[in-house]
Amino acid sequence: MCGIVGYIGRREAAPLIVEGLKKLEYRGYDSFGVATIGGMGLEFDKHKGRISENDQSAIQLKGKIGIGHTRWATHGIPNDANAHPHLDCTGTIAVVHNGIIENYAELKRQLTARGHTFRSDTDTEVVVHLIEEEYAKKKDLLFAVQTIVPKLEGSYALLVISNNEERMIVARNASPLVIGIGDGETFAASDMTPILEHTERAMFLEDGDIATISWSEVAIYNQGILVTRPLELIDWSLEDVKKGGFAHFMLKEIYEQPQAFYNTIRAVTSETLPDFVHNPTSVTVVACGSSYHTGLIFKYLLEESCRVPVRLEFASEFKYYPPPIEGLVIGITQSGETADTLTALKQAKARNCKTLAVTNILGSSVSRLADATIFMRAGPEISVAATKSFIAQLAVLMQIVNNISGRKCSAMLLHAHQAIEEILLIDLTAAVSVCTGAKDIFYVGRGPFYPVALEGALKMKEISYIHAEGYAAGELKHGPFALLSPETPVIALCTPGDTYAVMISNIKEMKARGAPVIAVGNEGDSELPEIADIFIPIPGTTPFVQVLTSLVVLQLLAYYTAVALGRDVDKPRNLAKSVTVE
Ligand code: GLU
Repeated sequence: MCGIVGYIGRREAAPLIVEGLKKLEYRGYDSFGVATIGGMGLEFDKHKGRISENDQSAIQLKGKIGIGHTRWATHGIPNDANAHPHLDCTGTIAVVHNGIIENYAELKRQLTARGHTFRSDTDTEVVVHLIEEEYAKKKDLLFAVQTIVPKLEGSYALLVISNNEERMIVARNASPLVIGIGDGETFAASDMTPILEHTERAMFLEDGDIATISWSEVAIYNQGILVTRPLELIDWSLEDVKKGGFAHFMLKEIYEQPQAFYNTIRAVTSETLPDFVHNPTSVTVVACGSSYHTGLIFKYLLEESCRVPVRLEFASEFKYYPPPIEGLVIGITQSGETADTLTALKQAKARNCKTLAVTNILGSSVSRLADATIFMRAGPEISVAATKSFIAQLAVLMQIVNNISGRKCSAMLLHAHQAIEEILLIDLTAAVSVCTGAKDIFYVGRGPFYPVALEGALKMKEISYIHAEGYAAGELKHGPFALLSPETPVIALCTPGDTYAVMISNIKEMKARGAPVIAVGNEGDSELPEIADIFIPIPGTTPFVQVLTSLVVLQLLAYYTAVALGRDVDKPRNLAKSVTVE
């Protein structure tokens, strides 16, 4: 996965592409590159590292046509040679690619045998040499791309330019690609974030589409036939893709959660839910990472409120060990491009299940695959760690529970954003100082607070690099107790309800083994401040709302701990936002 940007129009391409790539760095940031067609022919500049830290030479490239790439390596280490764009042997054609060419090894062997010289270890480079061969025959870049694309197996969003052509050719299969239509200029990119500043008008390409793009025209072909794709107006505001005065995108996105929750609750109603979601007899959820945790919260809430059994599966396991399933299958993926979730949904469809996608991204692959899609209204999430998309996913899933239960909690959901707003102002200084000194942290909860604990631990480990584990509170004594010590804090979620008393006992057991306990509970609770080392009060409302507010507390705790430790909060090491490989 990576970010790609192309430009053709009346302005200098390189500065626009460089700015666009910076906005796409959340998709990958181990190396970058730009190529343009200027008066002197094809110029390029590419480097290991981040474009946001080293844009000086790329920005100087001349020309009004250009392509750029910010990489998340799949084949070949991050270095200058493996950075995109890749050039053909003549140095006149350049390609950037998002995805994986699965049959590249065989193609590379054949191309090498025909005399091509490879300069990188990437899978991508075969594409440009294949184009080179076909271009030599007719001097027609569209023909060349159309001829070679059937030879490629795998996923690709490709942007191709040649110094003999006044156009850009793009192609898509299983990797996102959107075309932005401006005033006398056209953009192509992985998503709308780099385009929004210039135009709201966009066309989302579909698998198999190949398009020729000039400053004034876009022609899209599929299987050689001219096709049209709807021109959509994207109403995300420009502010949505800027930091807006916050130190990090993550903090900005945490603060955007009341709005994301409210907007999503408003958008998902019984009228907008597809018919087959209204009365399911059983539900299977397939998801990965944070989305798996929202699925688990959903399981607790739906089973408790409506007695509908919910089965939860890691999408990555589902593919290889598909369980016997029927009925409704829900795939949850923020990006809409998560490879494992896409595959799991395909398998569910093959088993005649009805499939519902929950995603944040309009035009994403999952929305074309599922029988129906519900879009959350989180807006673009730039920080790698999921926050507002998590809350917006919960909004969708809580509305589904609400709908199946006969809309018992409509009023509560419409006001829940106020409690989220309130919790944003909480002072976590004492808890942060305990966490920054820890090597390991346990998070525990029961019922729907168990997945909240899992998500809290995931947030902590991914951005602070402190080892953290979420457990169902009753499980800690079956082994992990051996690890408890004064250096191993436990964060206990202990809200009113059936499990309150047993949680209090669990906290006492942990204290007896010397672990400092940070308890998150109802404001006004008189017992927790007595037994816990640190008590974090959350507004006392329903379990649905306390799931949301306790989650925000854990996001903030992870955030401030990571900041205190000097971590790269928005771009944690080794990670990328959208996981489009298995
Ligand atoms: N497979 C290509 C590479 O490793 C593209 C990866 C990406 O999408 O960033 O260079």
